[in-house]
Order: sequence, then structure tokens, then C-alpha cells
Amino acid sequence: MRPAQALIDLEALRGNYRLARQLGGGKALAVIKADAYGHGAVACARALEAEADGFGVACIEEALELRQAGIRKPVVLLEGFFDAAELALIVEHDLWTAAASPWQVEALAAFSTDARLQVWLKLDSGMHRLGLSVDEFRAAHARLSALPHIAPMVLMSHMARADELDSPRTLEQLQTFNRAIDGLPGETSLCNSPALLGWPQVRSDWVRPGLMLYGADPLYPQPSAHAARLRPVMTLQSRVIAVREIGVGEPLGYGARFVAQRPTRVGVVAMGYADGYPQFAPNGTPVQIDGVPGQLIGRVSMDMLTIDLTDHPQAGLGSIVQLWGTSPTISELAPRCNTSAYRLPCSLKRTPRIYL
Ligand code: PLP
Repeated sequence: MRPAQALIDLEALRGNYRLARQLGGGKALAVIKADAYGHGAVACARALEAEADGFGVACIEEALELRQAGIRKPVVLLEGFFDAAELALIVEHDLWTAAASPWQVEALAAFSTDARLQVWLKLDSGMHRLGLSVDEFRAAHARLSALPHIAPMVLMSHMARADELDSPRTLEQLQTFNRAIDGLPGETSLCNSPALLGWPQVRSDWVRPGLMLYGADPLYPQPSAHAARLRPVMTLQSRVIAVREIGVGEPLGYGARFVAQRPTRVGVVAMGYADGYPQFAPNGTPVQIDGVPGQLIGRVSMDMLTIDLTDHPQAGLGSIVQLWGTSPTISELAPRCNTSAYRLPCSLKRTPRIYL
């Protein structure tokens, strides 16, 4: 079997969830949309179900996958529904839905059911993507809360720049949120991972951690005491499948992105951009070779990449190469490759996930 693997440490996932809930001080909705950021939504939900207060997903397809796998905890559609016809399924599968646009509020008001819908009413407090304006939000709250088929709502908003610890925007968003909810009954939900880790002033009844569940630090490289307590969940690794020597001045791989400056021992690793490793990782990108720090050299190909074994005389055919995990972390790797820690695990393809 091809040796490329993504090892998923479910105990680390549970530890990160506990940290998020402890920091939030209330209930925590584990955000497992996009197949749990590439970690496998069903496996992560099963690992967390005993202690999670609920799960957040992007769409009804993701919610139904959880229900079909037997997950019974609350599942929130964080963007709401895309068509009023979904409301029947939302009731049938006992899902919770955000209402983030005026048309969704209309559809909820017009919907007829004997059930009580659990709605998370979403304010646009400054992100300007989804969410109702302050006036729309207060009007929608008055209208929906008067209807017998709408349960007491959760009042939510989403932070746009909580990963920038020197930006005033987060506290401005908090002020807008507080103004919008003034005097309204209902639980609140504000914090994503960077808000939880970097903004103790921003708290809510429900927090919504995503990236931090998977052990990545959204504040990197800014220092954060809490982030140091996170444990990476995914280790992407493979093995050296070929070794060769190249002489001074000889190029390596596509486009000769690396030219040997010294006699160089090259290890070829079964891992490429078709697996989700970043194609444009530059020369010198850190890897671990049998647990020892090493470097990528040459351009990443579809199925393979190359590393420098010159200073690793003990390493050779079969050596284990860690591409990300405890070192380098995805937070460290992402900026070197002009991508984000959010995107790296989401890009995982073809590589089998092995649950620990
Ligand atoms: N809440 C909502 C509405 C989101 O869209 C997301 C993710 O984008 C999250 C929470 C989790 O964010 P993070 O991964 O930064 O914790």
C-alpha cells in the first residue's frame, strides 16, 4: 500500500474541545463543517458526541450525514438553509438552523409545522457577509419570537478579524452586537477560535470553535498562552520510496527549482499536491525525517516530493517523513506556502485517514 497517511488523534481532538469549552465558560458548538476541516466529520462527531453540546455544519447535506451516522446531538446549519423546501427536512431530522438573511426570516415565519424550530438569529455586526442589520435583527426577533413554531432563539454573530490582536474591529463588532441584543431574551453565540484564544473580553453563552479543535493556532505567529495548550490532531506523513545522489550543479525535479550546491543525497517521498500537500511549498520548507528536522527541496509534484537527506545519514528507504503535525504545525507551514492553516487539512485528498 502507498505509505501516505493522515493520522488523526481523537484524544487530542477531545482535549482541544475541552479547552475551548473551558475558555468559553459555557456551551461549545464543535464546528465540524467541511468534513471536520478535512479530519472526517462522522469520526470527529462520534469522538466528541459524549461531551459536545452540539455540532456546527455548513449545509443540510453535512447535517444529514451526521444524522445518518447516528449522531443525535444538536446540529446547527451555520449558514441556514438555501431553499425554503429544506425546512421540512430540518424538522424531520431535528436540526437547528441559522437565519442570516431577510428571505430566511420570511420563510421561517411562513412555514407551517406542529414542531418548534430552533433558530440561531444571525446579526451582521461588521463582517458584511451573512447576517441581518441591527434593525432587521430586532424586527426579525420580534416577529419570529411571537410565533408558536419558533423556540426561544440563540442570538449570534461572527467575528471577521479576531485573529488580528491589534485590530479595533473585534471590540467594535462586540459593541454592535451588544446594541442589537439589548433587552432581547435569548442565549448568545459569538466566539470562533481566534476570539476564544485571543479575546477574553468577548464571551457568549455558546462558543463555536472550529480550527482550534484540530489543534491549530489561528493567532500564529502572535504569542498566545492558550494556543500553546492545543494539540495537533492530524499528522500527515509518508515514507521515503527512493534515494539518489546528485552532483554539484545538477537540477532536481520539475522546473529545476533546486540545483545542488553540494553533493546532495535526495529522498523521494510518496506525497504530492494531489494528496493535499501545498504545491508551492518552497525549498527549505520544514519536514521531520524519522523525528529529526529536515527540509524539502525541489518542486512538489502530483504524487511525490523530494527532501534533502545529505545531513541524515541514518535515514533512507522507508524512513518516515512527517509533512505536518506536531512539527511543522499547520500554522507554521501555511504562511511559508502562501496558504492558511484552515486550508491545509481541508485540502486533504486521496490520503487515507487513520484514526488513533
Ligand atoms: N462560526 C461560524 C459561523 C463559522 O462560519 C465558522 C467557520 O468559519 C466558525 C464558527 C469556526 O471558526 P474557527 O474555525 O475560526 O474557529
